[in-house]
Amino acid sequence: MRFVIIGGGPAGIQAATHGARLGAQVTLIERDIVGGAANLWDCIPSKAMIATGDVLTLALRAQKMGLAPLNPGLDLEAISTRVHSITQRLADSTISLLDSQGVRVIEGSARLRSSHEIVAETPGGEEIEIEADAILISTGSRPRVPEWATVDGDRILTTRQAYPPPVIPEHLVVIGSGVTGVEFVHMFRSFGSRVSLIVSRQQVLPSKDPEVAAVLEADFLASGVKLLKGARAVGLSRTEDGGVLVSCDDERKVQGSHVLFAIGSIPNSEGLGLEGAGVFVDGAGHIPVDHHCVSNLRHVYAAGDISGKLPLASVASMQGRKVAEHVMGLDSRSHRHLDYEKAASAIFTEPEIADVGLAEAEAFAVGRKIRVTKVPFAANARALIDGDPRGFVKIVSDPATGVVLGGSIVGKSAAELISVIALAVTAHLKVDDIVESLLVHPALAEALAEAAE
Ligand SMILES: Cc1cc2nc3c(=O)[nH]c(=O)nc-3n(C[C@H](O)[C@H](O)[C@H](O)COP(=O)(O)OP(=O)(O)OC[C@H]3O[C@@H](n4cnc5c(N)ncnc54)[C@H](O)[C@@H]3O)c2cc1C
Repeated sequence: MRFVIIGGGPAGIQAATHGARLGAQVTLIERDIVGGAANLWDCIPSKAMIATGDVLTLALRAQKMGLAPLNPGLDLEAISTRVHSITQRLADSTISLLDSQGVRVIEGSARLRSSHEIVAETPGGEEIEIEADAILISTGSRPRVPEWATVDGDRILTTRQAYPPPVIPEHLVVIGSGVTGVEFVHMFRSFGSRVSLIVSRQQVLPSKDPEVAAVLEADFLASGVKLLKGARAVGLSRTEDGGVLVSCDDERKVQGSHVLFAIGSIPNSEGLGLEGAGVFVDGAGHIPVDHHCVSNLRHVYAAGDISGKLPLASVASMQGRKVAEHVMGLDSRSHRHLDYEKAASAIFTEPEIADVGLAEAEAFAVGRKIRVTKVPFAANARALIDGDPRGFVKIVSDPATGVVLGGSIVGKSAAELISVIALAVTAHLKVDDIVESLLVHPALAEALAEAAE
């Protein structure tokens, strides 16, 4: 089986390594860096910067932990070196993994010449032709910028110019209050910037549980973040002092030193020769796929952001894995289908937020009977020891069977703790299975067992 993958992000890498393990002859074509945008621009650098900001915040709170006051300062060059070395290490280890699995990696920009032929153009201008029995398009996406703005990488930024920016903004205006927007608010607030956030709805994180969003909003307000709710940014100009002025559709204006767009992404589907090869692309630029990630052509797959499903690296990886299995004919068991409803996700703010499965508000909206139990971290020994008792654990279960349907966690290490609920949701475990697990004491996870009680 000649399996050719275009795009080496989480979807492409997972499909390549798993496909090779299953016996496919795999070729992966990547034009930038192996690991993809996830490694180079998105997940990794943003979390590396947030981790630095979190250490700074902790150091500034040293007195609360019984230490003499500390006075740490920011070193942008050192931050930049740190971010790039993490990215490089991850890329190097991924290349070794691909190599050890016998995957052929071609550095170049690929396009389809026909539905079974791919051309990769190397940086030196050489064209390499490859024939394929199965093809995966996993070319990802890039930040969306409104037509009324031009990113200059200096004062007008997307997330891609922020690792780190040339200077720490004195006053950053963030446009977009979804996951990416709030993470960047948190990041720059912890670096000491003043931050204004333009929130097009009445709630930050509009797609999340209102109770969860409320904790984050309260924390933003307490730390001086200015929220402009119900406002849609419609224009941008430069001020005489070199700053930026953002105009909103309700006549409000907000002035800052820098602006950052976090308003979603555009799929990388242009220039791939998709239409010529007969691959259907929808109006938004995504390649619609079925539950096996198969496009309208039986041997052409799409996974990751280009597929228009949940734009998460974790989902992209799992799609890549499922594609490899389908390519190699191992998809017959129905329960192996990817269930996007069961994907855990996290928001790396402070407090951290994570959720999985059915949300309380969703269940009420469809009139589904559920049991909701909620335990605050305020009474948890580990949270008090760590000096951060904010947040709660909420578990949603079926009142008749006790099966865990979902949950959300707000608080320290929420992204790690949600794994327990994610496993319960995927494996159809019951609340009693969590209650009866012998957990560590003192640990934040004890709040999970209490919430499951
Ligand atoms: C700021 C930010 C933070 C994020 N943080 C998280 C997070 O913490 N956790 C999480 O799960 N998700 C996160 N995401 C989402 C996550 O980054 C994406 O969902 C994920 O990267 C999608 O993976 P992918 O495999 O589709 O492709 P990508 O990671 O986008 O990689 C696609 C690759 O294809 C290559 N490519 C494109 N066209 C061609 C071509 N013609 N020829 C050859 N190569 C090509 C590109 O160079 C790129 O390397 C974040 C997103 C953003 C914007």
